[in-house]
Amino acid sequence: MKTLFILLLSACLLTGCALNILTGRNQLSLVSESELQLVASGQYNTFLNENRVLNSATSRDAATVDRVGARISNAITKYYDKEGKGSLLEGYKWEFNTIESKEINAWCMPGGKVVIYTGLLPVTQNETSLAIVMGHEIAHAVAKHGSERMSQGLMQQMGGMALGVALAQKPQQTQDLFMTAFGIGSTVGAILPWSRQQETEADQYGLIFAAMAGYDPREALAFWQRMSEAGGGSQPEFLSTHPSDETRLRKLKQFIPEAMKYYTSRK
Ligand SMILES: [Zn+2]
Repeated sequence: MKTLFILLLSACLLTGCALNILTGRNQLSLVSESELQLVASGQYNTFLNENRVLNSATSRDAATVDRVGARISNAITKYYDKEGKGSLLEGYKWEFNTIESKEINAWCMPGGKVVIYTGLLPVTQNETSLAIVMGHEIAHAVAKHGSERMSQGLMQQMGGMALGVALAQKPQQTQDLFMTAFGIGSTVGAILPWSRQQETEADQYGLIFAAMAGYDPREALAFWQRMSEAGGGSQPEFLSTHPSDETRLRKLKQFIPEAMKYYTSRK
């Protein structure tokens, strides 16, 4: 663990960390956003082809996901523009899809490629909670957490290889790493849990995005409580990578007053 830390630290010093413009935190950054978006669009299409995607013209759930997604992505664009950071969303082409699956899961790939699993909906129960979890997942993406994990994975598993080289020389391993880094599959290799710091950032900004989209951020407490209780279910991955515990609830309570400043009820 210590060796890994030193390895990551020296990688940081030698090859470059990037200051994250959203969070102001230095992150290991061995991959460019445009490279990641390119891989993401391929992986996203493959994923959709391999799963049953609900049609929002006939499925009320999918229509709700589309509506919440549109509102949250508009809110994020507005937030970044207001902060003078609109360029950070360069290359983003938002897509929201709902797939039929028992898994309690949701994720957002670089470039704004979002998937909600129907197994999550009994836990969200309402549109506001869906907005909370979508805000959280999208915040992971725009705060470049997946990119950070992808960089760590390239360091740990592939000797710091550049993404392009890794894709050419070890395409399957690199694709698996990508999927794991973005919280999509954890069947191959070790699960890289989202760090506590990444979780906290995703909660903090996710609440602001949901609030700006017109969803009450106070709903987050009840939602993450339900997620915590759903932990006894059949899909531990999402829950183990998204720890729902006392610390999270305590942090959420701290973030809610800030998020409330952005909230205007739609009613
Ligand atoms: Zn998370």
